[in-house]
Amino acid sequence: METLEFQSEARQLLQLMIHSIYSNKDTFLRELVSNASDALDKLRLESFRDKDMQVDVDDLHIVIESDPAERTLTVRDNGIGMTREDVVRLIGTIAKSGTAEFLHKLKEQQSSSASDLIGQFGIGFYSSFMVADKVTLVTKFPHAEKGVRWESTGESTYTIEDVDDAPQGTSVTLHLKPSDDEDKLPDYTEPAKIREIVKRYSDFITWPVRLGGEEINSRKALWARPASEVTEEEYAEFYRHISHDWNAPLETIRMQAEGTFEYQALLFLPAQAPLDLFMRDSKRGVQLYVKRVFIMEDCAELMPEYLRFVKGVVDAADLSLNVSREILQQDRQIQLMRRRLVKKVLSSIKALQSSRADDYAKLWREVGAAIKEGLLSDFDNRDAILEICSFASTHSEDALTTLADYVSRMKEGQEHIYYMTGDSRSAVEHSPHMEALRAKGFEVLILTDPIDEMWVDSVPSFDGKPFQSVAKGQVDLETDEEKSANEAKAAEFADLLTWMGEQLAEDVKEVRLSSRLTTSPACVVGDAHDITPTLEKMYKAMGQ
Ligand code: ADP
Ligand code: MG
Repeated sequence: METLEFQSEARQLLQLMIHSIYSNKDTFLRELVSNASDALDKLRLESFRDKDMQVDVDDLHIVIESDPAERTLTVRDNGIGMTREDVVRLIGTIAKSGTAEFLHKLKEQQSSSASDLIGQFGIGFYSSFMVADKVTLVTKFPHAEKGVRWESTGESTYTIEDVDDAPQGTSVTLHLKPSDDEDKLPDYTEPAKIREIVKRYSDFITWPVRLGGEEINSRKALWARPASEVTEEEYAEFYRHISHDWNAPLETIRMQAEGTFEYQALLFLPAQAPLDLFMRDSKRGVQLYVKRVFIMEDCAELMPEYLRFVKGVVDAADLSLNVSREILQQDRQIQLMRRRLVKKVLSSIKALQSSRADDYAKLWREVGAAIKEGLLSDFDNRDAILEICSFASTHSEDALTTLADYVSRMKEGQEHIYYMTGDSRSAVEHSPHMEALRAKGFEVLILTDPIDEMWVDSVPSFDGKPFQSVAKGQVDLETDEEKSANEAKAAEFADLLTWMGEQLAEDVKEVRLSSRLTTSPACVVGDAHDITPTLEKMYKAMGQ
């Protein structure tokens, strides 16, 4: 037997579980059932791929057993199991991206909102330690010679040893905390309690969950049931199962296509951005099922990168069960389906915008910067994306504006949608470039996301109104009289301008008189095709 130490991040999370800050402890069972279900999905997939695999896939299931005298609760599956290396890597460490950042955030939070954060992170297996003071896991991977027994009290170490007689799959046994514990835990060995929790959280699990020989879940796929029969709470639980986000979704989207290529989709918009939204290896894509059978996680072929916050399930009737990513990438039907999913997501956000403005605002705050990436990659839907965008503007101190609202406020004779990019709202507001626009009473969009620098260069217009940077080229704000007056002035100052141009030849291309300033004596402007100072900084930071 070997005694090993938990990785330090894992140790910190375990401490959080032991001194549980999350008030709803029943959820530990959902996590164990969810893991068992994943393990059964994986084994079935593996058996499709590897026809020679010596495992029994005829009766894949989950069993829950309790022993009131011993105060133990066991969740057992005959799924894919784990090798010894898997156990050390998957259970002893937390390899999820964003762990360090997550723990840091958690430290800054009050304990009440910490549970929301925990939910975002989806701590899974470790939630066992909310209710148990010792956990034993026995597992066997089909190709491994021996099984593995893992045990821990959730303090800094765990033990691990080989076992000869482990059955296929995994069993997790919780040694429950004493019930006179200050937490006043319910009796989790009681069948009625177990049944209640499974019904509430795991009813839709596609594999049978058995207790005392009885099947206690209905196994109905939510997306296959009539929409009118599914409750919000059922959607929320299903969303938690697939997204590992413990918060309820902001919006549920259902789709159904009949005809030559039949499919059903159940998609969710999150109330909070996934923690890994702006990380390099962030997950994207929905789950793919074929006729209720789980085929793959994170199916990127069905959802573009800029909609990576959309979670859900697509169940296609006419695909082969051993469809591969390569096949998906070339399949015309899949591309068609993806196009319809994208349109549906965009139109659902548009509907939120008009009917539930607060929810739309929340969604935009969380994932708007990702949506704007679509302006650079999804040309077919560019207009639809522009319609659901919101921006800060000089019109209001705090409320964002849509482009349609901006256009409706445009002044007589105003032809452009003016914007200025910069590091922050105040940097933009204090820029000398803003003076002439302010004097004219023209509204200016204030764009401060790094992605804004990119899309403004490639999106020419909205609703026929060209975008115009106030910091680039000639911003044409003059009337004809002003123009001729300015030309006269330019002639008068020609010598001075030539001299200044010579003096500053190293630093600027040209010196000219300007009508755009009202209080500042001079400002530096970029050529229409120059990159902006912020973009220049970005390129430098990226080492270019
Ligand atoms: P998550 O499910 O979000 O990945 P968990 O903490 O719940 O996180 O589980 C960590 C990992 O441990 C899983 O991804 C899986 O690889 C492995 N695991 C947990 N339970 C089982 C099980 N019953 N059978 C096989 N592997 C499991
Ligand atoms: Mg899990």
